[in-house]
Amino acid sequence: MMKNNTVVYTLNQKAYINLTNRCSNRCDFCIRNGRETFYDYYLWLDKEPSASEVIKQLEPFLSYDEFVFCGFGEPLFRFDVILEVAEYLKSKGKKTRLNTNGQADLILLQRDAAKEIKGLIDIVSISLNASDAEKYQSICHCSFGVEGFYSMLRFAQSCKNQGIKTVLSVVDYIGQEEIEKAKKIARKLGVELRIRKYAK
Ligand code: SF4
Repeated sequence: MMKNNTVVYTLNQKAYINLTNRCSNRCDFCIRNGRETFYDYYLWLDKEPSASEVIKQLEPFLSYDEFVFCGFGEPLFRFDVILEVAEYLKSKGKKTRLNTNGQADLILLQRDAAKEIKGLIDIVSISLNASDAEKYQSICHCSFGVEGFYSMLRFAQSCKNQGIKTVLSVVDYIGQEEIEKAKKIARKLGVELRIRKYAK
């Protein structure tokens, strides 16, 4: 029987928080494609958890040092929950990371997301995925069209400007030429580039 609704899960000494299955992208390499589980965790949600439900579920995991907003969807769709949960984690002295597609100003419209997460999120890891908007769109199929790519770059710049540790990431399957171009983009923004292994 399906056991959906895992909100908090652990991998590599970190606790992960799965807030939503909504996303503005449909990436070809998304870990949820065709999957019921990820490392035996059932991350499809019948209902998105409230901040208080997440906080309650985090209690057994407070021995962990680092907490990552991630999961089978784009966490920015639950931005207010991120803020409340991150504030709770910070009150417990924990390190926090947000893994995101970075389309903050398209998803959150008028809000200055980078400013709002300053002091609550220690590391923002943004999926760069490709070296230009057309390639990004051909891999990520963003519902905002090619604007998704530019929005992601704007968010990376805003996070960097706010003094938040900002990391861009690409999946190694894009090939060496694209990786070199991604390195240039990261250098120009003054942020790190992480090259992730493609998880089949
Ligand atoms: S942005 Fe992330 S969650 Fe959304 S489809 Fe792409 S890999 Fe999956």
